[in-house]
Amino acid sequence: MKTRLERLRDKFTEGELDAFFVSSPENRRYLSGFSGSAGFLIISKDAAVLATDFRYVEQAAQQSPDFRVHRISGGMTWLPELFAELGVKRVGFESGDLTVAAHQAIINILKEDAAAKDVSMISTSQFIDPLRMVKEPEELALITRAMEISDHAFKVVTPTIEVGDTEQSVAWKMEVAMREAGAEALAFETIVASGPNSAKPHHHPSDRKIKSGEPIVIDFGARYEGYNSDMTRTICLGEPDETFRIVYDTVLAAQMTASATVLPTMTSGEADGIARDIIEHAGYGEQFGHSLGHGIGLAVHEYPRVGPRSDDPLVDGTVFTIEPGIYIPGWGGVRIEDTVIMEGGRVRSLTTSHKNENPRI
Ligand code: ZN
Ligand code: ZN
Repeated sequence: MKTRLERLRDKFTEGELDAFFVSSPENRRYLSGFSGSAGFLIISKDAAVLATDFRYVEQAAQQSPDFRVHRISGGMTWLPELFAELGVKRVGFESGDLTVAAHQAIINILKEDAAAKDVSMISTSQFIDPLRMVKEPEELALITRAMEISDHAFKVVTPTIEVGDTEQSVAWKMEVAMREAGAEALAFETIVASGPNSAKPHHHPSDRKIKSGEPIVIDFGARYEGYNSDMTRTICLGEPDETFRIVYDTVLAAQMTASATVLPTMTSGEADGIARDIIEHAGYGEQFGHSLGHGIGLAVHEYPRVGPRSDDPLVDGTVFTIEPGIYIPGWGGVRIEDTVIMEGGRVRSLTTSHKNENPRI
């Protein structure tokens, strides 16, 4: 199997590049193994340099044996000399990551330096990110561990939730449980949305007290060695109302049907359509206003894009979420989300928590 660096270099011809300047944290980590929070990669056809500052040089040498560690201090003044030494002329950069200010600083420095004034910085979009789409076995193991931590938190916390608890207190319990189970960080800010608040897909947990019979959407994930998990469950304390039963059953049917029938030969858009058809058929099409899911790995949202207009393939080895939802302003919402992998031609869920709406079952 080709290494990550080899797969990147194979793409150089496509952009007529002879080097790439990597600035995004996820791509930096993916290509080099370096997990520090500052640094750049400069990858040419035959050299790989990790430029980072004093705080990280020792860590970089340990984590990135395939890279030459180049110690830098603030600014970009070191760049022209390095480009000249590597003999590169057309250097790709990540337009989705590098700020306009940083890009301008690089252009100015290159212009002023005789050795590098004929180096061109070539804007690229989504050049490296698709390389991360199909996960290697080691990556899958880390995502699986991150998912186990989330499943564990759901299992231990949900039976303790009582009527009168605030959304914030439930979110905090989830976060503590994930940390205690080994999460190095949260994948993202935990969402706990109760009653009418659950009609907002990205509600920020408030001091609202949870009532009996209303939907409680809990969307959360853990990070483990850089890799993320993401899951949502909607629960209810006490007796749910009639709307809850109808909406819940519809979302569950959409989620489970998509999980059971999505194939690696489908585009993400076709996969999205499987769940969307069920929700539309039940009369809630307008209330499912977001995509079916998203790829997940080093970033919580990455390739493949799993939405109605996406042509991204769901080939074997892709890890993504399946998370249909229905949101009714004034009443609330229901979302059910699993992180899954396409494996051997079918979807396997990495999320294992039950999908009963009653947390005490
Ligand atoms: Zn989520
Ligand atoms: Zn998600």
